[in-house]
Amino acid sequence: MEENQCIFCKIAGGQVPVEKLADGEIVAFRDLHPQAPTHLLVIPKRHIPTLNDLQPGDEELIGRLFTTAARLAKEAGLAETGYRTVFNCNRDAGQEVFHIHLHVLGGRKMSWPPG
Ligand code: AMP
Repeated sequence: MEENQCIFCKIAGGQVPVEKLADGEIVAFRDLHPQAPTHLLVIPKRHIPTLNDLQPGDEELIGRLFTTAARLAKEAGLAETGYRTVFNCNRDAGQEVFHIHLHVLGGRKMSWPPG
């Protein structure tokens, strides 16, 4: 999908208004169809379609997705009870939006392995 058609680029760029929990190089917002009492998405502002498209030099960006996720999970009161972070990559993992996003899910007991 082209960058100018990407829903997460539009959210990051402000063309689609959402409540942003982080708003800089890293953007975070609530999932439209939450799968847990807390379900956040943490994305880079830059359009990267899948994890397969990461390049050398993206390590800091990916690290910041996780430190932002951990901060927001803590702010949501999930640090002690726990939460799950997930990247889906391509068809078999069920990726639907081709702009990488880290799911942060918490507020209920989860099972393993995932379906
Ligand atoms: P994935 O299957 O990993 O690609 O997850 C995409 C996620 O994006 C799903 O959980 C959707 O509910 C969520 N989503 C899609 N469109 C929006 C939107 N406009 N605002 C917030 N979340 C969205």
